[in-house]
Amino acid sequence: MTRDQLLTAPETAVPTLRGAVAGLPSYIPGRRSAGRDVAALASNESHYDPLPAVVSAVAEAAGRMNRYPDMAAVELRERIASHLGVTAGELAVGPGSVGVLQQIVTGLCDAGDEVIFAWRSFEAYPILIEVAGARPVRIPLDDAEGHDLDAMAAAVTERTKVILLCTPNNPTGVPISHERVEAFVQSVRSDILVVIDEAYVEYAEAGSGPDSLALYRRYPNVCILRTFSKAYGLAGLRVGYAVAAPAIAEGLRRTALPFSVSGLAQKAAIASLDAGEQMEARVDAVKRERARMAAQLEAQGWKLPASQGNFLWIRADDDLRAKLVDAFDRADILVRAYQGDGVRITVADPASNDRVLRLLAAHAARKPPTYNPIRSTDN
Ligand SMILES: *Cc1c(COP(=O)(O)O)cnc(C)c1O
Repeated sequence: MTRDQLLTAPETAVPTLRGAVAGLPSYIPGRRSAGRDVAALASNESHYDPLPAVVSAVAEAAGRMNRYPDMAAVELRERIASHLGVTAGELAVGPGSVGVLQQIVTGLCDAGDEVIFAWRSFEAYPILIEVAGARPVRIPLDDAEGHDLDAMAAAVTERTKVILLCTPNNPTGVPISHERVEAFVQSVRSDILVVIDEAYVEYAEAGSGPDSLALYRRYPNVCILRTFSKAYGLAGLRVGYAVAAPAIAEGLRRTALPFSVSGLAQKAAIASLDAGEQMEARVDAVKRERARMAAQLEAQGWKLPASQGNFLWIRADDDLRAKLVDAFDRADILVRAYQGDGVRITVADPASNDRVLRLLAAHAARKPPTYNPIRSTDN
């Protein structure tokens, strides 16, 4: 039989995807309009060009791309260790912190085990959990757009293996205070890994969120997840890491896809840590823009939660969301829209931010509805 005959013959068995995979939503790429002045505010990337020192470190590493990278990422882990005041044995690196999170879920969860997280939060959470064969348990945000930690603690069952806390939360920008995280960690079983995802920690005002390293040192079931993709501006190179108790970190290193963090990414991350002050200056500029935008939007009549990330969150019913998405589309501003929940806009350079402010001023008459937590299960 030919290939076409095989594919159309009704009696021919074909390979099928696992149910967990077949049920996943397909990735819908953001709209790109070529040749026009598009403001890319949909992915919380850094709008700055890479730092020259980072570009030259990558260029130098490019000359060795015929070789596999250091699989154990020894030099990078030692550099992160001295940056944080931990040991390299307490670190696992991966292709973005999403990659490390995949290592965490596959490393800790058997089929049917449960992972609890707030919703809405980072869209990658339910996908990684389902692909691993574990069960995602979404707990609606509270009415201040933050984690409902009481409800999350109440959702713990015998099958709970991992709990994800995202602070500041993507997409709402709301942090969880140190005291609340600590009380939560004390209230859950010590054999549950509590992962504090701090993808935006560099953008948070000191003291707004937890002192995660202090909590990690006090509670061995706390794990910290960080990334070079956001404030450090390395989204395209894929590198992030976890801080975890040595036995867990060791296990995560074993579950990693071999050589998944390229030599270019390792060198770029080291050079980025070395350029910490320049990164901080850039972060400060974004924080100033965030404050400027928040103040103007409030004056326009919008009610937004105080964001500690490099993004702003507009709660919107589907009617308002559709109107905003259409307006942003026509203005060539790419933003992230969430069905049933709202719109997230990355804070970037002043000119792009001004475009956002002008657009939202025109829609300010339509006040966003007050948030009424309903369990939303779509991705
Ligand atoms: C962007 C982001 C990450 C990390 O993404 P990577 O590029 O894979 O490092 C992790 N968590 C949250 C909440 C994010 O928004």
